[in-house]
Amino acid sequence: MTNTETLQKRFAAAFMPNYGVPPVAITRGQGCRVTDADGREYLDLIAGIAVSSLGHAHPAIVEAVSRQVAQVAHTSNLFLHEREIELAERLLSLIGTDGRVFLANSGTEANEAAVKLVRRIQGPERPVIVAAERSFHGRTLGSLALTGKDAIRTPFGPYGQVVRFVPYGDADALRAATSPDVAAVFLEPGLGESGVVPAPAGYLAAAREACDQAGALLVLDEIQSGIGRTGAWFAHQTAGVRPDVLTLAKGLGGGLPIGACIGLGPAGSGFSQGDHGSTFGGNPVACAAALAVLEVIERDGLLAHVSEVGEHLAAGLGEIGHPLVAGVRGAGLWRAVVLTAPLAPAVEAAARRAGFLVNAVQPDAIRLAPPLILTAAEAAEFIAALPGILTEVSA
Ligand SMILES: *Cc1c(COP(=O)(O)O)cnc(C)c1O
Repeated sequence: MTNTETLQKRFAAAFMPNYGVPPVAITRGQGCRVTDADGREYLDLIAGIAVSSLGHAHPAIVEAVSRQVAQVAHTSNLFLHEREIELAERLLSLIGTDGRVFLANSGTEANEAAVKLVRRIQGPERPVIVAAERSFHGRTLGSLALTGKDAIRTPFGPYGQVVRFVPYGDADALRAATSPDVAAVFLEPGLGESGVVPAPAGYLAAAREACDQAGALLVLDEIQSGIGRTGAWFAHQTAGVRPDVLTLAKGLGGGLPIGACIGLGPAGSGFSQGDHGSTFGGNPVACAAALAVLEVIERDGLLAHVSEVGEHLAAGLGEIGHPLVAGVRGAGLWRAVVLTAPLAPAVEAAARRAGFLVNAVQPDAIRLAPPLILTAAEAAEFIAALPGILTEVSA
């Protein structure tokens, strides 16, 4: 048995079967490359689902986390520490607004906070939340109630939240659904888990307008699209649309668990003392990592880099002209290679054999969400290898 197989056997015996057994046992990483338990190296084009924004073992994160853990690792919300304040201030300045921040430990917790916040602000007169079909907002019960995927949602209902689902991207349907009983509209600026499907032009602006007309709050879930992924700090900035509530996680901590629910303007002041909390939320080590991520993105000009390498990647993938490729969609370093047949799992496996970690996010779509530090040369490696990978699958 290989080392990987031994670990897989132990994994299968010790863990609940909700994930299935992963195909790779990662032991370490450096930059955009990871090494497995049998010494094989891979170019990491998924970054732990859009999380490892500075790649692996980035010196700025290693330094910030090491320094913080040696100073104080945890305070709880009974006490404050300066890192969490710095982080909240920094996030608000990047959004360019006044507002208030709540720090959580994951994406789903950020959305739970958002659900509670809009309920608190809007009260019982507005029991409905509008969300999109094919959306993904997380696995805990509040976030799952808003998630427009029957296969993962239905088995765990009923939910304590009335949700009106609309087809994603249809502005008329969204307007029609946003009636005076609606507390909030929750949207991703592009569907991540449904295959990196960008919002049609004008869709977020239409959502903003529908919310303003109905007195509903607009909540944008930028847990996957935020923190430079699309080449802007936040995807809503590209769309020129300001939400009332913004949720973040994934890439924010660069690999350490952190989430944020940010209320812009008056929405930031919706909670009263005692309304919400988290023991780990605002953890100093996670905050130090997030500050390092934001600092390096700015210092190294990574937003422009993401746009440039992302364009290069999309253009290169679009030009390979393989019969299995229907097209490439997405923005920045958040892309999907759309296939002409439902062969994404086989393509993912063949890519892995060729030394690339990618993600079969949908039966016919391969998601690429590499570290934001991916170089043009690294992108070119995958572009050059993909025709052979696809041919192996088609054969
Ligand atoms: C991943 C994701 C979540 C859930 O985040 P977790 O950290 O896994 O709880 C929520 N919304 C979107 C858009 C996501 O991509």
